[in-house]
Amino acid sequence: MEGAEPDAALGTVYLVGSGPGDPELLTVKARRLLEEADHVLHDKLPGPRIIDLLPEDRSEDVGKRAHGDRTPQSEINERLVELAREGKDVVRLKGGDSFVFGRGGEEAHHLASHGIPFEVVPAVTSAIAAPGVAGIPVTHRDHASTVSIVTGHEDPTKAESAVNWEALAETGGTIVVLMGVTRLPQYTSALHEAGMAADTPVALVERATWPNQQVATGTIETIADVRDEVGIEPPAVTVIGDVAGTRESVVEFLQNDYGNPAETTAQEPG
Ligand code: SAH
Repeated sequence: MEGAEPDAALGTVYLVGSGPGDPELLTVKARRLLEEADHVLHDKLPGPRIIDLLPEDRSEDVGKRAHGDRTPQSEINERLVELAREGKDVVRLKGGDSFVFGRGGEEAHHLASHGIPFEVVPAVTSAIAAPGVAGIPVTHRDHASTVSIVTGHEDPTKAESAVNWEALAETGGTIVVLMGVTRLPQYTSALHEAGMAADTPVALVERATWPNQQVATGTIETIADVRDEVGIEPPAVTVIGDVAGTRESVVEFLQNDYGNPAETTAQEPG
């Protein structure tokens, strides 16, 4: 027999993406696995509507601990191994896609190194879905032939920043920033300093496909103020580039309505 034969007594871990939050955007496979799983480990990112669907008696929130700080990744890794060793089939449910900034790669590595069989169940990532439901295509024949998905979590002024904002400013494609609400002023300044035009359009899409989705628009110069004015908070995706400006021409007819039909885009200052 070829390859490693999983131990029959072990359960399987399914690294499942939930999509951005609308339960209708769960994959058919994710839904089936959630029904069949012996145990579900999740955090808050799948959003309230999907969390409401989870089987209460078999679900465990590993996002925040009682005193409010984040559960260390090592604890989640260990819990997955522990459950699989009890023979349980486990769904590790993650917002968006499980392998886009979700630490899914680390979980896969941990499982493999402990001999636990696992399956990756891809999903709709917020990096593409959040701009999409706001009426923004991440690529467009006339506006962007590349799209970069980056983390905004790091301090762009640090020399060892893993994101090369200067290079991104030069590509002329679309930049989608995840985890980028807090450091928005820092990386928009970094892009501007690297030569990106001050009037480059930017959109913020908060809680995309959740009942209280918000969209706010501006430019790399104004968006930090717009963020404060509108009150954009995580989770939100930042879309930078000419594609963000195309929204204006379609939004009147855009029927993606996630419970808050009011257009929340703030007036640009000035
Ligand atoms: N694996 C996820 C990303 C995890 S990192 C995915 O593929 O979407 C967490 C970041 O994802 C958040 O800070 C935010 O930038 C983004 N995000 C996830 N779900 C979102 C949603 N429904 N609306 C807006 N941003 C979202």
